Amino acid sequence: MSPDPITQPYVFNNHVVPGLWRYLLPQEVHQYRLPAEGQSTCADCPQAKYEGYDKLYRCCSYHPAVPNFLLGLALKDKVARAAVENLYYLGGLVPEGFLRTPHQWIDYLADLSDDKFGEAKRVRCPNINETNGFCNIYAFRNGVCSTFFCLNDNGDFGAKFWESLQEMVSQMEFALSQWALDQLGFNVKAYFSRLDKLAPKLKDVADPTTHFWTEKTRKYLWGRLYGKELQTFRDCGELISENRNRLWEIAAGWTIIDADRYDKAMNKMVPKEYQHEIDPDDLEPGENMSMQELLADVRRYYRRLWKVPGALELSPRARITKNPADCKESRDKASDRPYMLEFYSRRGGTSVEWREYLTKAQVDALRAFRTPRQVNEKLLRSRAFSTISDPSTFLAEAVGKRVLQPAH
Ligand code: SF4
Ligand code: SF4
Repeated sequence: MSPDPITQPYVFNNHVVPGLWRYLLPQEVHQYRLPAEGQSTCADCPQAKYEGYDKLYRCCSYHPAVPNFLLGLALKDKVARAAVENLYYLGGLVPEGFLRTPHQWIDYLADLSDDKFGEAKRVRCPNINETNGFCNIYAFRNGVCSTFFCLNDNGDFGAKFWESLQEMVSQMEFALSQWALDQLGFNVKAYFSRLDKLAPKLKDVADPTTHFWTEKTRKYLWGRLYGKELQTFRDCGELISENRNRLWEIAAGWTIIDADRYDKAMNKMVPKEYQHEIDPDDLEPGENMSMQELLADVRRYYRRLWKVPGALELSPRARITKNPADCKESRDKASDRPYMLEFYSRRGGTSVEWREYLTKAQVDALRAFRTPRQVNEKLLRSRAFSTISDPSTFLAEAVGKRVLQPAH
């Protein structure tokens, strides 16, 4: 019997995502032409090579919220099952799924504040395979892990697109995890009210050494399902699997329940020195957007990805010089990328926002826009573009990175 596609990785336009996404995404999104994100070469991670990230953990230096049903589906796979069982023994599982404790969140903020994200100083995802750095639950990872690229081919425009997709999928994950528990007869409102009741004693909910949930907290949160955690996840996975053809409808019809008092107490528990790292969206509980609104954002950011204005000019914030070959990255790339592009935070400023190394062909094409130029067939067939394999994609990416801007 061939394996159920819901448990098999899905190649979504060259990106490997959980099999569930075959059913999770609206039909139109499956047709999208996605950025290749060829710079985020995870197997040969540039952040580990040049930015001091830990070679094994890299950006897996956070505790991802993985919903109960994805963990339930993961239990059908040999490698992933061992990872879920590990989460169980560590004390990481609550009815929603794998959820960070307030202590683990503060550790994450501390890493950010000390500029140590990626160095796995305090926070390491327990789902990493410690021998090869692969993700043990790759075909069941969450929406954040599935849409994160540290470098975006289409710059800010690409980052915004992935962020919008991430928000849509994450909200579906929250909604479906709560819906599945509800279908099993678990009182979801009572669970969130139990979380709220933890607010005054948040310091005691996690083990002081491991920072995972204490047994006492887990017993309290699981209620009558304590001792049946993995079976509950299996049941949630089954429910989602049985209803795979109406997941959008279910998520759109479910009103997400939050634990506002618990969330506020978590923010309050963060030491002053790390407060600035809290995402402003986490500070004030707000209304969740509807699925239609989230999809509208995805569409809006998608449309922007490949749009090339009729006339373009090189941004005054972009400066192209010779590759100085003065650091490991520049030396590694010097042989085929003899130029460096520096993008400044403002026109005439001295602070460099980002830099990348360019081939001669890329520089010739960009320099065609030193003065404002109409983008037309004639230009794309000109000498400046003769060695650019896909001029339209090249231009869209340069616009997304704001290196080229609409001509005034
Ligand atoms: S996304 Fe993560 S693993 Fe992949 S290249 Fe970037 S930092 Fe490395
Ligand atoms: S779940 Fe997998 S992809 Fe996500 S942080 Fe952990 S190891 Fe990395």
